[in-house]
Amino acid sequence: MSLSWGHRPPSKVAKRLRVPLGYALVLVASLAIAGSDGWVGPPPIGQAEHDAIEAVLREHVIALNTRDLLRFRDTFDQTRVFFGDCQDVVFRSLPVGVRLGEPVLGPVERYGDYLRAWISDGVDWRRQYFRYVGDRWLLSEPLPQELGTERSAVYGGVELLSWSIDDDIVDLVGAALPDVRDFVVRHAKVSPTGQFSVRIDPLADPRGGTACLSAGNASLAYKASGARIVHSDVRVTTSLAALSTDTLTTLRHEALHWIQLDYSADAVRNMEWWLIEGWPYFLTEPPSRLDRRVAFCLDGDVSIPSLRAGPPRGATYDLLARDYVLAGALVEYLETTYGADAYWSVLDGFRSNVDARKVYEAAIGTDPVTFFDGWARWMREGYC
Ligand SMILES: [Zn+2]
Repeated sequence: MSLSWGHRPPSKVAKRLRVPLGYALVLVASLAIAGSDGWVGPPPIGQAEHDAIEAVLREHVIALNTRDLLRFRDTFDQTRVFFGDCQDVVFRSLPVGVRLGEPVLGPVERYGDYLRAWISDGVDWRRQYFRYVGDRWLLSEPLPQELGTERSAVYGGVELLSWSIDDDIVDLVGAALPDVRDFVVRHAKVSPTGQFSVRIDPLADPRGGTACLSAGNASLAYKASGARIVHSDVRVTTSLAALSTDTLTTLRHEALHWIQLDYSADAVRNMEWWLIEGWPYFLTEPPSRLDRRVAFCLDGDVSIPSLRAGPPRGATYDLLARDYVLAGALVEYLETTYGADAYWSVLDGFRSNVDARKVYEAAIGTDPVTFFDGWARWMREGYC
């Protein structure tokens, strides 16, 4: 039995504007292998391969922007089932009217039979894999048995697990972990008793659905001592200088789930969705006035039952983004109206009680209907 969430909402990548980047990444990793007769490098990447990858990337984005599903599916490797499932989720989730900019292709290197390219959306850089299928290069991902050997290292007391395929980025992730831990511990009600660990998993999430849209998740095996954060989409700044803001935010968000779980895994099992997600979201990405206005005032469809039970499995990008903003605003309302400690009082109530009405009444002296009505009035008066 395990607790698991697809936790951080999708990054605002679809809303990002492309910023021209005139400089290339400097790769710190080399995939050259040593032979008995000296260094034997892999064959260099030819211009034809470079151009083929650029062409398939362009085709991929055009198909997304024109909402052409068949053309879209023709740009990725159909033999990688989970990868393909997640690509379909991305296709269906792209908000109406949003058009992605053309990605910028950085350095390309070989990884086994694959080409691995650094690609920028104009803000961050991430890696994507390509495989030669039939007579052309397609977007793909390695098989689980192609990730290399497992490694484990400890950074500031936090264990980081990865496979050798990610050796070039593992120290960047590790270097960030002590700060991530310090940040989240500052927000804990009591000092955590356990420790979280992190795994870098470069493959698409086999759970599909909305899990495909988030870069990380936190889970806890029953009665385990600490939460395991899995990060599947590590992004970096130019020249591999640091983790991107987006990746740091994901790590902080997931580590705040560790704080909740460490405080009371029973409460997390029992409590409502907005309490689980609103707290880390509000602390790491406090929604702007405009975000709140768009999420609450301009959308006649705000669903309190959905905020309490969680977005439906097939939720679109728009719906997920909206519900996280609303969940964050709910936590802010809870703390500003009922006191700084109200969040933890509600958590305490959910430790041993699944009846939300009783928990609300005991913790904050009000019933759920009055609470949500008060919040809606607060949102209307403050932001509409
Ligand atoms: Zn989350």
